[in-house]
Amino acid sequence: MRARLIEPNNGPVISKEKEIVKEMIELYCRKKHHREVLCKDCQDLKNYAMLRLSFCRFGEDKTACSNCKIHCYKLRYREKMKAVMRYSGKWMMLYHPIYSVKHLLNK
Ligand SMILES: [Zn+2]
Repeated sequence: MRARLIEPNNGPVISKEKEIVKEMIELYCRKKHHREVLCKDCQDLKNYAMLRLSFCRFGEDKTACSNCKIHCYKLRYREKMKAVMRYSGKWMMLYHPIYSVKHLLNK
């Protein structure tokens, strides 16, 4: 039996979102966990988030994750991602007002 090949998303919308999410997690870890390099836990979350985005079934048509009807995150990651978004959201607005952070936070 051959596994069905699914191409990971790498269009501009997904790529941009990955970039933002990555920065938000890094910011969170730096400020909250006082690390220069991502701690194991945050690294794990980052890998997970990148994977979810790569295989988001909506691809380039995706809406804000918080607005999505399909909760593709496992609960454990969802809770942590919520905390990251809450925490890093306000910093991102200061550092990168040009980014569509508002879209991400669905506000
Ligand atoms: Zn951390």
